[in-house]
Amino acid sequence: MAVPKRKTSKARQRSRSANWRLTAPGLSPCPRCRELRPSHFVCPGCGHYRGRDVSAAAGDKKKKKKQEKRES
Ligand SMILES: [Zn+2]
Repeated sequence: MAVPKRKTSKARQRSRSANWRLTAPGLSPCPRCRELRPSHFVCPGCGHYRGRDVSAAAGDKKKKKKQEKRES
């Protein structure tokens, strides 16, 4: 098993810890409603992704259409 040759000094450990912090998530405005959203995420404001409505309500519409087809 590989073993460290030297003990990590306090200075080295502390300088490493100094750079370990949380960063703010990268947010970009939605092209549709200008609300800030993380990239590659569905917009929380208008439920659109890549110019398409992908919200739960839009999904229901598709389900309803399928049900109508079955009934007729
Ligand atoms: Zn939006």
